[in-house]
Amino acid sequence: ASAMREIFLETPKVYWSDIGGQELVKQKLRETVEWPLAHPETFKRLGIAAPRGILLYGPPGCSKTLTAKALATEAGLNFLSVKGPEIFNKYVGESEKAIREIFRKARNASPSIIFFDEIDAISAARGHAEVGGDRVLTSLLTEMDGVESMGNVMVLAATNRPEIIDDALLRPGRIDRMMYVGPPDLDARKKILEVRFRKMSIADDVSIEHLAEKTDGCSGAELTSLCQEAGLQAMNEDIESTSIAGRHFEKALEGLNRSISKEMIEFYE
Ligand code: ATP
Repeated sequence: ASAMREIFLETPKVYWSDIGGQELVKQKLRETVEWPLAHPETFKRLGIAAPRGILLYGPPGCSKTLTAKALATEAGLNFLSVKGPEIFNKYVGESEKAIREIFRKARNASPSIIFFDEIDAISAARGHAEVGGDRVLTSLLTEMDGVESMGNVMVLAATNRPEIIDDALLRPGRIDRMMYVGPPDLDARKKILEVRFRKMSIADDVSIEHLAEKTDGCSGAELTSLCQEAGLQAMNEDIESTSIAGRHFEKALEGLNRSISKEMIEFYE
C-alpha cells in the first residue's frame, strides 16, 4: 500500500512558449484535447467520439515530455505521470494494482492527463510471466476500455520504439492517434536557443543564427546541454564570469554529441 502513495499529481507549469518549434504537434494536440473538453455537445451531436489516447513517438530528447506537460498546463488539466519500467520495478508484485490506481487517481482528479512515458516497456514485458507482463497489459486495456469510467481522462503515451507497441493498445477507442515528435529543424533550433537564452546571461557576440546552423541533427536536449557546457566554459575562464560569449559556445560545439542518426530519422519517418 505504501508504494501506491508514490503516484503523484503534478502541476507542471510548462507553457507552449517554452517549446521551440513543433508547431504542428502543438496545434494537433490543442484540437484533439481541448475541443472535446470545451465542446462535448458538438461531439455528441455529430455522433463522434472524443479521443481517449494519443501516442507521441520519436527520437529521444525531442520534447515529448515537455509537450505533455505543456498540454496539461495550457488546457488546465491535472497531470499524472508514470514511466513504463516503473510499473514493473517500483511496484513489484503490485503492477496491475498500480495501473488501476493510476486510472483511479486520474478519474478523481479529472479533467486530467495520464502521461505514460516509455510505454514500450509494457509491450516488452508481454509473455514475461515472472513480472506479470500479460496481466499488466490486460489491465491497461481494461482501464482504457472503461467508457463511462474514463470520464475526462486522456492518456498521452510516449515512446522511442513505436514499432514494438501492441496492436491491441492502438485499436480505436484506445491509443488511436499517433503523432511524430521529430528533431528540430533550423528554425526550431533558433527558437529553442531563444527560449534557453531568456534565462541566461549571453554576450552580444553570440549569434543564434550561427549556432542553429552548427547544430544540425541535434535534439532539443542536446541544445540544452550545449548551453550548459558553454556556461561552464565561461566559468572555466573566469570563475566570477558574468556572461557567456561566442568563444565559449565555440568550445562547447567542439565537444557536442549527436545521438540521433540519419538512419534513426528515416526509420521514424
Ligand atoms: P526522451 O524520449 O528521452 O524521454 P523527450 O522527447 O521526452 O525525451 P524531453 O524530456 O521533453 O524529451 O526533453 C528533454 C529536455 O530537452 C527538455 O527538458 C528541454 O530542456 C530540452 N528540449 C527538448 N526539446 C525542446 C524544445 N523543442 N524546446 C525547448 N527545449 C527543449
